[in-house]
Amino acid sequence: MSDLDDFSKTLPKLETVDAEAIPGGLEPGSGSAKLKFGENTGRKKNIPKGLWTKCGKCSELIFDKDLDENLKTCTSCGYHFPISARARLESLIDEGSFKEMDAGMASVDVLKFTGVASYPSKLERYQEKTGESDAVITGVCQMGPHKVALGIMDFSFLGGSMGSVVGEKLTRLIEAGTKGKIPVVIISTSGGARMYEGMFSLMQMAKTCGALAYHADAKLPYISVLTHPTTAGVMASYASVGDLIIAEPGAMIGFAGPRVIKDTTQAELPPGFQTAEFLMDRGMIDAIVPRNEMRDSLIGYLDFLSTGKTKPKARRAAKKKAS
Ligand SMILES: [Zn+2]
Repeated sequence: MSDLDDFSKTLPKLETVDAEAIPGGLEPGSGSAKLKFGENTGRKKNIPKGLWTKCGKCSELIFDKDLDENLKTCTSCGYHFPISARARLESLIDEGSFKEMDAGMASVDVLKFTGVASYPSKLERYQEKTGESDAVITGVCQMGPHKVALGIMDFSFLGGSMGSVVGEKLTRLIEAGTKGKIPVVIISTSGGARMYEGMFSLMQMAKTCGALAYHADAKLPYISVLTHPTTAGVMASYASVGDLIIAEPGAMIGFAGPRVIKDTTQAELPPGFQTAEFLMDRGMIDAIVPRNEMRDSLIGYLDFLSTGKTKPKARRAAKKKAS
């Protein structure tokens, strides 16, 4: 133990970090022990808040201030940490242009669902924790030259699960997009349908896709952005039907998780299975865009998708000139 104590003293940066936060801890003989997948997830909590965060990929310690300035991506390896929907919103839109829709809409406990805790008590806890009424923020905003109907999900609210409120808010957003003849951008992150609302959750899959079909009929673009993780009922509905589907690097995307698939099929899964990069290689995703390039890329894609729509007069003039 004394050797390890001396060793830890030679690392001044580690002074602010709990021993628990170091892989394997500072226990004798445990330093070289390899962590199993997912084993260290609970340890992040032990790092004092407001100082450092350890990168989940390269293990580098990053100043929280630097991490915030870098939109919660690792300054050393580019690993994408979870980010709140509000912080993401600010990084994407023209400052002060967001007109939020249905901000106060909250779920009711139709099924009187009680598991370990009752559904209303869970809702209350997450509303307090996140400051949001449910797992999605929707509204109309300006992104450079484009007016956009924008929806952003928040994984920290009950795992970004889709209940009646997420479905209804997104449907109203898409309908506002159709009515206002503007593109829709939805940034997803979700563990799937919300089990506390049973069938009411599953109905949201058809409802959101129905609204998107009307939006598509009006020849308006819809861009779906998949962030870590986007799975299950959300991936099986609005997240996978974008005119363009883009993803953040390293995001896990799929219907059932890899462990479930492995257990069900009893087959060895290929390396990188269900990552954004894996799906990009197989044509499921159109582009992988790092978070700090997302705004510029979205504006670029919207320029491309709305060519000939925003300036019909200019197009007619050009046609006339050519003939
Ligand atoms: Zn890193």
